Amino acid sequence: MAQCKSCGKKGLFLSLSKYNLCSECNQKIAPKIKEIGAQVIKGKEAIERTENFEDKFFHTKEFVRNLELLHKLEIQGIKTITPSAKDLINLYQDFEMEYIEETYYNLCQKEIRNYNTYKEKLKSLRELKKHFEDYKAGNKVTKKKELKEWQELIDLEIDFDTIHCSYNQFVDEAKKLEKDGDVIKAKNILENAFEILVKEESTFEDGADLRVEINEWIKKIENKLGK
Ligand SMILES: [Zn+2]
Repeated sequence: MAQCKSCGKKGLFLSLSKYNLCSECNQKIAPKIKEIGAQVIKGKEAIERTENFEDKFFHTKEFVRNLELLHKLEIQGIKTITPSAKDLINLYQDFEMEYIEETYYNLCQKEIRNYNTYKEKLKSLRELKKHFEDYKAGNKVTKKKELKEWQELIDLEIDFDTIHCSYNQFVDEAKKLEKDGDVIKAKNILENAFEILVKEESTFEDGADLRVEINEWIKKIENKLGK
């Protein structure tokens, strides 16, 4: 016996729409299914088309959110789209890690490597980290281990760049202070920079050279001060 999957009405002569709905429910629900279905198609195209990480991420979230709305109907026995929302969610989970991996490498290898300053790079890394966290919070992540490894990599990069950023900021500040004639303050700041070079020796490839450079700079200032 035919039964409407929304209101539960049943009868021998009840005719159901292609969505498994009686005519009354169909009038209410079919337009919604069509509308969300159209958004799903648009969303999928947008994900595939865009290269920009932020847009891609935004479209993906929208895409899954719409699929989940349809999936709620599917659970009730209502037919929605072909392939089904459930199948698309599964498919999405299959390419999910591929997408994260691709995005991670695109950003870390290409964009981030191209930044001129550690400060800019640091900003991007922090944004990337936030995206990963949002991603993990909002989606069913299937390969947690890989995601964790990438996040650890990002954290390492952030630590590394934070150190280089503070060092560069000290050096820039010292230059400015020296130019402005405030050599005592400049010397203090340079001592801070030197401390970073010593403390974080392993993160500076050219640390030995930099230490010599800063040391000579400090001595130059001390000579100026008449010590
Ligand atoms: Zn009904």
